[in-house]
Amino acid sequence: MGRTSTDRHAGGPRPHIVIIGSGFGGLTAARQFAKADVDVTVIARTTHHLFQPMLYQVATGLVSEGQIAPPLRVILRKQNNVNVVLGEVDSIDITARTVTSQLLGRDTVIAYDNLIVAAGADQSYFGNDHFAEFAPGLKTIDDALELRGRILGAFEQAELSDDPAERARLMTFVVIGAGATGVEMAGQIAEMARKTLAGTFRNIDSADARVVLVDAATAVLPPYGGKLSAAAAQRLEKIGVEVQLGAMVVDMDYDGLAVKDADGTVRRIESQCKIWSAGVAGNPLGRQLADQSDVELDRAGRVRVEPDLSIPGHPEVFVVGDMMAVDGVPGMAQGAIQGAKYAAGVIKSRLKGDDAGREPFQYWDKGSMATIARYSAVAKIPIPGTSRSVELAGFFAWIGWLFLHLIYLVGFRNRLTTLIDWTFAFTSRNRTQLAVTEQQVFARNAIDRLEVLERDDEAA
Ligand SMILES: Cc1cc2nc3c(=O)[nH]c(=O)nc-3n(C[C@H](O)[C@H](O)[C@H](O)COP(=O)(O)OP(=O)(O)OC[C@H]3O[C@@H](n4cnc5c(N)ncnc54)[C@H](O)[C@@H]3O)c2cc1C
Repeated sequence: MGRTSTDRHAGGPRPHIVIIGSGFGGLTAARQFAKADVDVTVIARTTHHLFQPMLYQVATGLVSEGQIAPPLRVILRKQNNVNVVLGEVDSIDITARTVTSQLLGRDTVIAYDNLIVAAGADQSYFGNDHFAEFAPGLKTIDDALELRGRILGAFEQAELSDDPAERARLMTFVVIGAGATGVEMAGQIAEMARKTLAGTFRNIDSADARVVLVDAATAVLPPYGGKLSAAAAQRLEKIGVEVQLGAMVVDMDYDGLAVKDADGTVRRIESQCKIWSAGVAGNPLGRQLADQSDVELDRAGRVRVEPDLSIPGHPEVFVVGDMMAVDGVPGMAQGAIQGAKYAAGVIKSRLKGDDAGREPFQYWDKGSMATIARYSAVAKIPIPGTSRSVELAGFFAWIGWLFLHLIYLVGFRNRLTTLIDWTFAFTSRNRTQLAVTEQQVFARNAIDRLEVLERDDEAA
């Protein structure tokens, strides 16, 4: 414990670009330097690059975790100027131009000439952090596997119960937040209950499961607007999801949650398995940048970057992806990919000395899509040069979703195996990835408790 390593590139002959994060922003940025005369270090908290848009498919057994989380080192194997450092960045010193990361008690201090911070966003419980114990979010592979375990575990417990009230509680699944992730999770749980698990239990009928989608907003998928939001809500109800809008979650415990309706009435929903997909908070590294410079954070804690995505007074530090706050740029994969390409472009131009007259970052909205259930999705694709969009709901939007996500998945093998799993899942009622381990379900809360004990020990 307490060991320190220093990065071998510090003070080297070539400019050193340090990138924090291995998500869409971090990986895209690293790849932009493939042919550049620089050294690149990617500091990543996980050994994989994660394709978050398909996390709900891991949580509901459609695909395996390996298919959406290829190892970062393997992806970057052929890019010789990149070094991957595994660790959690706990401090950035923008005066000394160093980043310190930590892995199992070993600190690694890395000096940079240019820094790209692409550390993404965290789940926000809007000040009710204790909800996290009862309603995990969906941000990581661990989250997805835990949710898979909780969903299947609730059915298993219901099978063993003779008490009707307990059974009803175990077979009520509540998804909080009717954005794309919430809609996708609710739709998939309903399909698992009605199709995949149908006929597999002897004492319960899995099709009796109640799936409730709750949101304080008055529409599902609000950014899609009127027609598409209504189509999504209708489709959800058709597959057996109860959509409860204008309903704010005000309290939660192990056995259920309290919901406040628009008229002020507070009611309780008994439910053991709850899933949080409601809020986004900027990564805490944003606060560190704000404390050391004149950059401001928005209400969600995201960094209000300059038009060239750097921070005021530090043209060598860039923030991209979900961590950055730029008007009109949504927290979506395209925002991170385009921001990372832009920031890398600025660095490369400056290194060549030809950065004069560079245009500010401009986001190209390529549209958004969300699946609701098999054969059903919604898509909104802006028509370039106009304020209008093409809006699709139903089968063709679903085909479009599958096709686009297959293209963006990293690795040919992953694309092929995903295509095979999808074909199997969508043409039958089976899913290939329904294994659950005890650790998946219990590890997160156990680790949290250990950390609290460790902190208490240190404080004593
Ligand atoms: C469930 C879900 C579904 C989504 N669906 C869609 C969709 O359908 N379409 C779409 O366009 N977008 C979707 N998004 C949003 C999209 O995934 C994000 O906008 C995108 O991933 C942002 O990229 P990023 O690089 O900024 O952050 P991320 O991809 O989140 O990457 C952040 C990286 O930083 C690392 N990191 C964080 N903190 C540290 C630290 N202290 N030290 C070291 N490393 C750190 C993380 O481990 C991770 O590798 C979805 C997101 C989620 C969670």
